[in-house]
Amino acid sequence: MPCEVKPRFVLLYGSQKGQAESLAEGIAEVAEEHGLAAELSCLNHNEKYNLETENAPVVFIVSTTGDGEPPDNALQFVKRIKEKTLSPDHYKHLCYALLALGDTNYANFCNCGKTIERRLQELGAKQFYATGYADDGTGLEVVVEPWIEGLWKAIKGALSKMASNKAAFVKGLAADSPRGAPDSTMPDVQLNLLRITDQQSRESIKAPVSKSAAAASPPAPGTHAAVSDLRPAVPTGSSVLASRSPGASAVSASAPETPGTDDGRPRVSPPASLTRSLPPLSESSLNLPALPPPYLDVSLQEADPAGEAVGPSNVEALSAAPVCRAVQLTTGDSVKTALLVELDVSAHPMVTYHPGDSFDVFCPNRAAEVEEALHRLGLSDQRNHRVHVSLLKDTKKKGAQVPSYMSQNISLLYLLTWCLEIRSVPKKALLRALVEHTGHSGQRRRLQELCSRQGSADYNLYVRDCGLSVPELLAAFPTCSPPLSLLLEHLPKLQPRPYSAASSCLRHPGKLRFVFSVVEFPACSWRPAGRRGLCTGWLFDLINPVLLSPGEDESSVSPAPPKIHVSLRPNRSFRPPSEPSAPFIMVGPGTGVAPFIGFLQQREQQRKDDAEAVFGETWLFFGCRHRDGDFLFREELEGFVSSGTLSQLKVCFSRDDHEEEEAGASSARPRYVQHNLLLASRPVTDILLRRGGYLYVCGDAKNMAKDVNNALMEMIQTELQVDQLEAMKTLAALREEKRYLQDIWG
Ligand code: FAD
Repeated sequence: MPCEVKPRFVLLYGSQKGQAESLAEGIAEVAEEHGLAAELSCLNHNEKYNLETENAPVVFIVSTTGDGEPPDNALQFVKRIKEKTLSPDHYKHLCYALLALGDTNYANFCNCGKTIERRLQELGAKQFYATGYADDGTGLEVVVEPWIEGLWKAIKGALSKMASNKAAFVKGLAADSPRGAPDSTMPDVQLNLLRITDQQSRESIKAPVSKSAAAASPPAPGTHAAVSDLRPAVPTGSSVLASRSPGASAVSASAPETPGTDDGRPRVSPPASLTRSLPPLSESSLNLPALPPPYLDVSLQEADPAGEAVGPSNVEALSAAPVCRAVQLTTGDSVKTALLVELDVSAHPMVTYHPGDSFDVFCPNRAAEVEEALHRLGLSDQRNHRVHVSLLKDTKKKGAQVPSYMSQNISLLYLLTWCLEIRSVPKKALLRALVEHTGHSGQRRRLQELCSRQGSADYNLYVRDCGLSVPELLAAFPTCSPPLSLLLEHLPKLQPRPYSAASSCLRHPGKLRFVFSVVEFPACSWRPAGRRGLCTGWLFDLINPVLLSPGEDESSVSPAPPKIHVSLRPNRSFRPPSEPSAPFIMVGPGTGVAPFIGFLQQREQQRKDDAEAVFGETWLFFGCRHRDGDFLFREELEGFVSSGTLSQLKVCFSRDDHEEEEAGASSARPRYVQHNLLLASRPVTDILLRRGGYLYVCGDAKNMAKDVNNALMEMIQTELQVDQLEAMKTLAALREEKRYLQDIWG
């Protein structure tokens, strides 16, 4: 078999939830098709790469988490390159490209990528390809796909430039050297050609579907039929699937198409949906992503279910805190149900928190969905078998590893319940992999469309934006029967959900309160009404037996308190000002008010403890739908005003008292927090711009935080008489000084 030496490049990722990691893996998979060898590594595994001496191009794929922080597995790297002792030419030998992932719904968009890039440049590294900033808020693929497409040419360009620079250098040395030989300390250009691999055959994929609805039996995993109509190679390393036969008008994954009704009138075509496409997509040739190579070998072994672990996988590191109080904060007819939970953390000294901190709640997948998954996998009878996971011999996946959370001594039931986010939104790589395990030709074609470049809009509409889960996808594509190993390869780790502390330890020693609203997903054709968010639905069911209605007496409920596994997530910046005299403004509609209850409880206690101290003004902007339905913490907030702890409470109701507005009256009442901010523009800007004050925003990232930001821009423009750019700079400076802080989610 012919051997080929491929030039190498280094591919480093930093990933919190696996997106950057899976993109990096995807790039590594197809590198060979582009005649390159990728050396893939996580940024934290610095024993696997050495940037100090690296002479091949380096590609970084990094995401951002929290309030602009690096992902956990990039933290050490970022810390290292931030060392002040590094000289400005530390990385002058380095050639890099960077793809930053972020979400414009959050502050500090792509901050980790920007930080790495800034430091690389400060340390002398040269960029060989323009940085991509991909936005999860609008769809990562909008930037990611063209960026990857252009990457290959850029790497080759960088390699040949490096080679010719080095050749010129060597030539110069040869001319200078009395013996005419290159300096042996100079790294050899050939160092870039370390890998010797077999000629890789291009992935072959199935032929396009016919209109027939006949279900074929699914192919054996990993086998591929030869393609009948492949176009010439495509630049991304993906495959091109031929269009359907001319004249075809739609592809339905569920039923055969019939050309007309019995009486000869043409049938009206149903609209496009998750399982059905319309022209032009249904007639289009498709560029498919490369088939992700399998890499896990999974076997099941009969075992005694006794002694099986219960609770989250890292249970030793968590605190199991009993619920000592649970109250419904909203009335029964409210659109969203908000609940307050009080935990007894007195037995857990590590849960010592400060106002502004949040903590992670560890919840399991829903039992019914786990059952459904077991049934779908045909493994219901093996639920108590131990799962043995190892790396598949000869896997083609670069840098393949058995995920650390799949420990060897757990049952299948435990794995599906506590370890995997079985509800995660399927990524395109998973859709691509599922094609190979789908019997019905129409369903295969639809899955191909959804992961193809041409089907991007459909993917966004029917998969991403509506939060389609993997079980929902499998329900919609009934002939898709993936093996367990494939799901283990593609489903991410089940993540804990963070909640902001809504209390202060000073007021409630040994107690931790939080507030959440129950997420409800709207019904649609593949999702019945009543599906709740995973954690909020679980919490709701858990606390329901001990739940008090507003005003209800605690003594009336006395079942054994349920326990919740939590761990603290300290927030170093979202804290009340350290100097008590600094004025501060809090903007927290809905459950976004939670941390501010903690801020105000702490302030109230401090005022009691030190009557002589000078305390700055405090403002709170709160908003909800109805004064009588979901005005959370109303009594407590009004109490803070009466005691002087809260200087100004500005509340608005988006669905109350707006008749005059609807009738066109000119003096409309404020509906949303940003309207009240605009009405208080003078004192708010005074606090922020002249009195060294602070502004905190907490709650919904998708709309509220942006609207508040826009209102602040408008206020600064008016107050300082500056243009939009100047106002943006002023806000950026406030962020930089940590006087404009956000704790937002969505
Ligand atoms: P999931 O099952 O995870 O579902 C939520 C997901 O579904 C989200 O990605 C959302 O975008 C998506 N989604 C929701 N509705 C729809 C829809 N109609 N169509 C399509 N997709 C949809 N929450 C609080 O209530 N109180 C808090 O104090 C709080 N503090 C937080 C602090 C931090 C630092 C962070 C990051 C988040 C905080 N959250 C808080 C949010 C919380 O962590 C959870 O995300 C939230 O409770 C939902 O969890 P879940 O498991 O029930 O929902």
